[in-house]
Amino acid sequence: MATKYDEKTSCNSCGIGLNQIKVISIDAGCVSGCETTCTACGFADFWCYGFFESGAHMEGKSKKYSFDDSQND
Ligand SMILES: [Zn+2]
Repeated sequence: MATKYDEKTSCNSCGIGLNQIKVISIDAGCVSGCETTCTACGFADFWCYGFFESGAHMEGKSKKYSFDDSQND
């Protein structure tokens, strides 16, 4: 099963808001860590290497993406 990553521009709390992103760290030219704040509900989160920190404590509602197109469901 392909790993599904959290889309960092998508709010993990309300699932409909667009996140404002403040980049904290960059790894090999890609954003690896950033603070996110939802423009709809104000939910503040931290996204690192494909996942929201809040996802460890609650069921995330953010949009997901995967690098393996053949196994998307
Ligand atoms: Zn939100």
